[in-house]
Amino acid sequence: MARPIYLDCNATTPLDERVLAAMMPYLTGEFGNASSRTHAFGWAADEAVTQAREQVASLINGNPDRVVFTSGATEAINMAIKGVARTHSAKGRHIVVSQTEHRAVLDTCRYLEQTGFEVTYLPVDQEGIVDLAMLETEIRDDTILVGLIWANNETGVIQPVDAIADLVRSRGCVFFSDSTQAVGKIPVSADQADLLTMSAHKFYGPKGAGALYIGSARPVRLTPLIDGGGQEKGRRGGTLNTPGIVGLGKAAEIAAREMEDDGLRVGRLRDKLQSRLLDRITGARVNGSISARLPNTINLLLPGMEVAKLIPKLPEIAISAGSACSSGSGKASHVLKALGLSDVEASSSIQIGLGRFTTDAEIDRAGELIIDRVEAEWTLSPS
Ligand code: PLP
Repeated sequence: MARPIYLDCNATTPLDERVLAAMMPYLTGEFGNASSRTHAFGWAADEAVTQAREQVASLINGNPDRVVFTSGATEAINMAIKGVARTHSAKGRHIVVSQTEHRAVLDTCRYLEQTGFEVTYLPVDQEGIVDLAMLETEIRDDTILVGLIWANNETGVIQPVDAIADLVRSRGCVFFSDSTQAVGKIPVSADQADLLTMSAHKFYGPKGAGALYIGSARPVRLTPLIDGGGQEKGRRGGTLNTPGIVGLGKAAEIAAREMEDDGLRVGRLRDKLQSRLLDRITGARVNGSISARLPNTINLLLPGMEVAKLIPKLPEIAISAGSACSSGSGKASHVLKALGLSDVEASSSIQIGLGRFTTDAEIDRAGELIIDRVEAEWTLSPS
């Protein structure tokens, strides 16, 4: 069978060939340890890491000194939330996050709850957007951190980050945003939050490489999550993953240059596929905001379809039934439920993520395949 059409770019993206080419020397001849100060192998690796730090900072108009390389966004999220919890616990032990956060945030909060922190899980409206007035009432004198996902991995819904940041900062709390799905897809600026995360594999870089950005406008003191070796100015121990970091840097450099054009092209393809599916599938509707949304994402409710059974009948396309981490768990998506969908509606929703390499022909074919399959299911079991 030919390879399926890949439409799951919020789970992960393919590696851009230009990124692979930039990484190759550091997987082969330039294998030095970036911390080795006594020979050319170490100097070459260190130079490459320095360049990547600049590329990453440049993508978000930040300062290279504030970039901490990690193994990905999950680690960066753990470092941000647990770090603030540790260093700010004298001020208070209350944290606010939204109900639509990624599991990396939710599970970190659950862990902190077991160690004496209190977490408020803020609801969102039907569009998936946080209510600022409600956020304001939930921030207390002992609130130390507000963490809100910039762009949702399942729905693509984008939060009003600037208004949130103003509010959170005016109340003296740290504002952390899980910007993992936003960085590389839409403009993200370092000064818009106190702590930001990114992950190379969400924008055509390698898996296992990411970063935490610690803003300098109101520098947040963090304790390391991983001790040892003094790397990253003592903020994250362990030998640096030079090839992965070089890949992250190159992916950032390409995104800075091509993000706008990619966004326009991918957005046109997404809208074409969306119109076709909405026109042809009776009762279909987009979950979450249509306007405040990543250009590549569609989360679509297909009424009456049990998506866990539908997707295996669509082997020609790679799409998702929910967040990649939780798909397979059999549980309805917590993100869709927070938008007010019932269990049945959430289980009848598909998630489509287009990307830089998605073609017009693939979108035409994927549209046909989905429509034909849904029509076949209707014929099999008319409601
Ligand atoms: N945050 C969001 C919004 C994500 O989409 C993901 C990946 O699915 C993560 C965090 C975790 O990223 P990583 O795979 O780099 O650990």
